[in-house]
Amino acid sequence: MKNILITGGAGFIGSNLIKKLLSTNKYNVVCIDNFDDFYSLKQKDLNISSFKYHENFSLIRGDIRNLQDLEKAEKIDVIVHLAAKAGVRPSILDPILYQDVNVSGTQNLLEFARKNDIKQFVFASSSSVYGVNENVPWHENERLLPISPYASTKLSGEMLGHVYSHLYGIRFIALRFFTVYGPGQRPDLAIHKFFKSILNNTPIPVFGDGSTSRDYTFVTDTIQGIEAAIEYSGSEFEIINLGNHQTVTLKGLIEAIENICEKKAIINRLPNQPGDVSQTYADIAKAEKLLGYKPQVKLEEGLSSFLEWYKKESENI
Ligand code: NAD
Repeated sequence: MKNILITGGAGFIGSNLIKKLLSTNKYNVVCIDNFDDFYSLKQKDLNISSFKYHENFSLIRGDIRNLQDLEKAEKIDVIVHLAAKAGVRPSILDPILYQDVNVSGTQNLLEFARKNDIKQFVFASSSSVYGVNENVPWHENERLLPISPYASTKLSGEMLGHVYSHLYGIRFIALRFFTVYGPGQRPDLAIHKFFKSILNNTPIPVFGDGSTSRDYTFVTDTIQGIEAAIEYSGSEFEIINLGNHQTVTLKGLIEAIENICEKKAIINRLPNQPGDVSQTYADIAKAEKLLGYKPQVKLEEGLSSFLEWYKKESENI
């Protein structure tokens, strides 16, 4: 069995990934998470509740910036680095903290990998690195024009990965996630916020005229790509988009959620937010070629699955 260290495993994507990896019986999973207070700790406790006593799972309550915490993880074969300060808008309010966790934290983890001879490192990057590049769909070789501190920390993480891959032979796979959604989604993200407000008859904040668009990826599809990256051995350094290759406007997303809830949204229209890009759209040919990645879940199906989770768990988060 491979020993995998997952950072940020109490979070949205991490906890869904751990569930999936444990179900294969191929991996021992060690998770490090500091249960950061960016959102409800109840939600993070719920995220890990179904596997925290699994025989192939162990949890380190610790910080990726602290080498002593990392050293509690022993005999690791692969690191999947998901821990981060996430979110574009809050990064504008506290850019130094984002730099500290996302860049220094990533470097600390790479140092840990170097010292412990860990040769495979999968990194959660983000579509936000493309920023205001209008040449969509974005191919991995496109020019990068980030417009938020968060995006720039993700780009720095990719570049640190290149350095460590080149100097120390650590295979580094940066996966650029495109707006991930599904059960356990972070409460600061649009789909979660919109369902919550529509169901509670409260206004939803809509930034801009509704014409911005996103390439939404259902979390099981993202995980399919992460699993393939854990096993990838074709080259030493890669950057790969994990999107859906389908875009939806904000207006279209709200309509889809209204249809599923059979209820109209109350719209609170607000100006466009600094740091937000007008569109995201992934070219996923490279992911298909290198990782066999093929997104499966259509938006309506994914939204229904979120709603099912939300109805069951909204009291517990
Ligand atoms: P999340 O906030 O739910 O999970 C991140 C986890 O990291 C949290 O549980 C948090 O407690 C932990 N963490 C934060 N700082 C830490 C530290 N210093 N030490 C240890 N743990 C720490 O976020 P998510 O949506 O699951 O995102 C996972 C990763 O994917 C992040 O790196 C994020 O930037 C990236 N990403 C997410 C999306 C998306 O749409 N959700 C899109 C692009 C990239």
